Formats: sequence, structure tokens, C-alpha cells
Amino acid sequence: MQGSLGDKWIEINLDAIQNNLEEIKKIISDDVKLIAVLKANAYGHGAGEVARFLSKNGVDFFAVTFLNEALELRNAGISENIMLFSPVIDEEQLKEAIERRITLSITSPYDNKLIEKVSRQLHIPVNVHLKVDTGLGRFGLKQEEIIPVCRLLQENPDVCIEGIYTHMAEAASTNSSYTNKQFDRFMKAINELEKEGIKIPVRHCANSAIFLKYPHMHLDAVRIGTLLTGQYPVGSFSQPLNLIDPFKFKSRIISLRTLERGCYLGYYRTYRLKNKAQVAVVPVGYNDGLVLEVANKPAGLIDLLKIIIKKILSYCNIFRFNPSVKVNGKNYPVRGKVFMQMALVEFPPGVEVKIGDEVEVPVRKTLAAKDLKRLYLGGEKTLPEIDC
Ligand SMILES: *Cc1c(COP(=O)(O)O)cnc(C)c1O
Repeated sequence: MQGSLGDKWIEINLDAIQNNLEEIKKIISDDVKLIAVLKANAYGHGAGEVARFLSKNGVDFFAVTFLNEALELRNAGISENIMLFSPVIDEEQLKEAIERRITLSITSPYDNKLIEKVSRQLHIPVNVHLKVDTGLGRFGLKQEEIIPVCRLLQENPDVCIEGIYTHMAEAASTNSSYTNKQFDRFMKAINELEKEGIKIPVRHCANSAIFLKYPHMHLDAVRIGTLLTGQYPVGSFSQPLNLIDPFKFKSRIISLRTLERGCYLGYYRTYRLKNKAQVAVVPVGYNDGLVLEVANKPAGLIDLLKIIIKKILSYCNIFRFNPSVKVNGKNYPVRGKVFMQMALVEFPPGVEVKIGDEVEVPVRKTLAAKDLKRLYLGGEKTLPEIDC
């Protein structure tokens, strides 16, 4: 096993994904559809395998952001609905999307015209969902564009307006006023369509955070990614589900030396050993997603303060605010600056470790390289052998 896996791999526990699916299903009513969001390689878990596993467990609607992600799922044998969140702006690609029965989003009058044009040439049925911008400021039709877009689509017998949806800007915030405002705008758009005699069957606006916090916003379908992958969205939540994280990034110790008290570790000598210690090299660095964080603008003053305080605590080497790796069930600190492809770990002198020992490393799932070997564990009860 060691040879084939090399010294870096990812373990994905399918039983954990099944557990998360069941936990989610507990709070979905029977008439609400689950759309499993598998964008960004299923948040790093491997989109093809995860989709196949979910489809064997009864999920029949998937969503991704880009066309290449959708085609990847088709190529992995997924014949269920696959919806795209982003527009396809190239005619040839749009043809391929329709030929491969991808459900499209209409995000602007531009997409609308292109879909209309390509669909007229193909005469293949295509399902579309109207994306309404209610305040995220990303993709979406404006209120006044919705009815003209529908009118154009209705004249095309191959286009089925299956859904209408929006995406929330502050789903995880403790203040619900903006979310409520967005929801009101969405419902208003739907009402206006209905007044025009246009009834769209699948209305959806809930991602994981909305799903947890606003049950009345489940409507006809919920779009869930984060919870399936065993995590709660960022923000403060009551945690009603018993989620299990399916993802473990594993590596091995490739060097182990005993260094004396006072030795420096790493570039710029940012750490100095306080005691004699065993120092290990693990072949995982920021190139693999270790210690990388999304460096977006802070959401507010409190967010900014939290970031500053965390940096200060990290600077003071407070254990909880620095990365650590797990070996034989125990955590040990990463010391010094993480290198591009390596990191140093300190073990006290008495700890029994050796070269080749397995190490669990806290990398950012979505940054883990796509071509890294992913080992799927569990799930045997429902998943037969896959040859691909
Ligand atoms: C990513 C995404 C989701 C899923 O969000 P989670 O918080 O991961 O559940 C839903 N809808 C859209 C449009 C998305 O981009």
C-alpha cells in the first residue's frame, strides 16, 4: 500500500458522507428536493466518486459551477440532473452542454438569447433555471428582466423553465434582515410571474446556512454542499446535525532528527527549540494547501479584530492557533514557517515516532491538488466495485 500511495494521499470516508446525507434528510420534508452541490471537485473530495456514491444513495440532482465540472460528472457516469450555476457564453460549448443534457442557468438576457439561438439549431429539450439577483450582486436577472426572458423562452418548444432560484449574501450572519429582504424580493419576483400566468415548479434559495437557519426558505429544493462534506458553514450556528468529516489528508514522515535546545527551525528562524526535540520533515507545504487561508477583506470591525488577535496568538506560538499534525491519535505542532512543499514538526524526545510513520495534516480541502490520490473507504454496503 505504501508504494502505490506514495507519501501523500487523501482518504475519503464514504460512510461519513452517507451519514451526513442521512442527517440532512432528517430535516428536509418529503416534498423538498435535495440538490447536492459538488463544485470545486466536490469541495476537494473528488466530484466523480462522490456523485456516484450519492446517486447510489438516492440523490438525483447535482449542481456545479462550470461546464467542465458538469461534463466531468457526465463522464463519470452520472446520468441524473446536473445543473450549472454559471452561464455558458460560448456557442460550441453551449451546444455540448445541451447535447449532454446539462440543466442551464439563465443569468442575463445575454445567456437567454444565446440559449434560444443554440436551442433552435439543435431541437433537443433543455431544462433551464432562472437565476434572479436579489442582492448578492453576482449573476442574475434583474426584476424587470424576468418576464421578458420568460416570454422569449416560452416561444421555444424545446426549452422547459424548470426552476427559478436566487443566492443569499449573508446567510450565516446573525442579523437576518438582509436575508429576509432578499427572500421577499425573490418571492415578489415569483408572484409577479404567477400573475402573468407563469408558474415555475422548482423554486430554490437555500444553501447550507439558509437550510439550517430558515426552514421556511426551503421552498421546493435546497442546494447543499458544505453540510454534505461534514462541516458547518462559517458563522455561528446551532449545530443540530451529527456531521462527520469524511476527509483526511495523509502523509508520512520522511526525515527525523534529534536537535538540541536552541536550534532554529526554518526560513527566517521564526522558531527556536525550547528543549531538545525530535524534528520531523513532512512533505506537505503551502503548495498542498497547508496554512493557506482565504485572504478576503474582513467582513467588519469584529471580523478584523478576530483576525488580528488570531495572528497575535499564532505569533506567540499558542498551540491552538498554529497548525498541528496528528500522529497515532495525538497532535504535534508544526514549527517555523511552512515551506513550499514541506513542513517541520516537533516531537518531544520520549515520543515514539519513526521515518515512514503516517501523519494527518490539516490542509484546506478545496486547495488539495486534484491529481492527488484519493482513497475511498467504506460505503461497501451500497457501492459495488467501480472500474474507471
Ligand atoms: C456553493 C453554492 C451552494 C452551496 O453552498 P453551501 O453553503 O456549500 O451549501 C448553493 N448555491 C450556490 C449558487 C452556490 O454557489
